Amino acid sequence: MAQTDVYGWLDKSLTTIKKANWYRQTKAIAGKAGAVVELNGRQVVNFASNDYLGLAGDDRLINAAIAATKEFGTGSTGSRLTSGHRELHRELEQAIATLKQTEDALVFSSGYLANLGTISAIVNKRDVIFGDQYNHSSLKNGAKLSSATCFDFPHNDVETLREQLTEHRAKYRRCLITADSVFSMDGDLCPLPQLIVLAEEFNAMLLVDEAHATGVLGTTGAGVTAYFNCTGKPIIQIGTLSKALGSLGGYVAAPAKLIDFLRNRAATWIYTTGLSPADTAAAIAAIEIIQTEPQRRQQLWQNINQLKRALGHAEIVSSESAILCFGLEDSEQALNLGDLLLAKGFFVPAIRPPTVPTSRIRVSVMATHTPQQMRELINLLQANLTID
Ligand SMILES: *Cc1c(COP(=O)(O)O)cnc(C)c1O
Repeated sequence: MAQTDVYGWLDKSLTTIKKANWYRQTKAIAGKAGAVVELNGRQVVNFASNDYLGLAGDDRLINAAIAATKEFGTGSTGSRLTSGHRELHRELEQAIATLKQTEDALVFSSGYLANLGTISAIVNKRDVIFGDQYNHSSLKNGAKLSSATCFDFPHNDVETLREQLTEHRAKYRRCLITADSVFSMDGDLCPLPQLIVLAEEFNAMLLVDEAHATGVLGTTGAGVTAYFNCTGKPIIQIGTLSKALGSLGGYVAAPAKLIDFLRNRAATWIYTTGLSPADTAAAIAAIEIIQTEPQRRQQLWQNINQLKRALGHAEIVSSESAILCFGLEDSEQALNLGDLLLAKGFFVPAIRPPTVPTSRIRVSVMATHTPQQMRELINLLQANLTID
């Protein structure tokens, strides 16, 4: 056989991606995480961060990470079941369980790994998963990895979910319903109370991903579960330490027997190195702050509501979180508006297919954005969004 470039297909593939305006590249942020960051040598107001409460640059988290590194070293040096487990990990898991008011919790190296490991551990070939069409990639790939039969239900459509459950549930052994609690690309919430009713009626487990809700919703920042007064229900709550909590890592908060099972069956927890002491200690400090400083959450909601009052009519769907999305005709328009805002000193990302079905500009609000920064962004959006 003639020698060919086995990687030649990549050139074609990349060309196709570029032609569709779907090509992405990283942008380096300089300086400390915060509401203002340095991008390409310029100070810009950051409306692209998941650091909703401004904790990633908080001295208390930084000092906790430094102290833990000095005391324990930089790495955990082993998996939790062999040589990498420390009291600090347990302390964090207990803090999460207390915040979520669950019996126990387990910390993973990322939220993505928490979803992959949990879903693939609790269902398999004989089981079925019903997942919201707009679920995060980690829920979808967790479902694939599990080899369970998977059905997507239309976004937040509990009636169709009921029909699917009625038709298919009985053919399978275990059943799992999955949803983001705050949908990351629109900012709306899952209808949790209705999902709980269906889970009970059809004898299904229910897993919600609170990644964008923890720290943001609920009086103590416990998320959508607390917001809907569903605390104490037998829900599997997944989340991340890397958004409002300003650190790195993921977690599962659930009944103790489920956590015990995961410690024995979740491959992405068993066969990976324990969370670093720095990340663990920073997350512990963050959980303390989100519970004791509700004024941060109040400030965040003041900023969100200001933006909604001014531009709510231009939102793709009505947001109930710190993520607000404004629709544009196509990828090119979204990119152009992103570039224009950047030229004015505002970092607001354009989100395009294939990540989302329709192009948009996505604003992530932080508690630490000043009234002036909020006003300036609102003025720019009002002048540049075509609102009908
Ligand atoms: C960000 C996110 C994750 C991944 O969390 P990481 O800790 O960053 O891996 C999982 N699920 C949802 C819904 C997310 O938004």
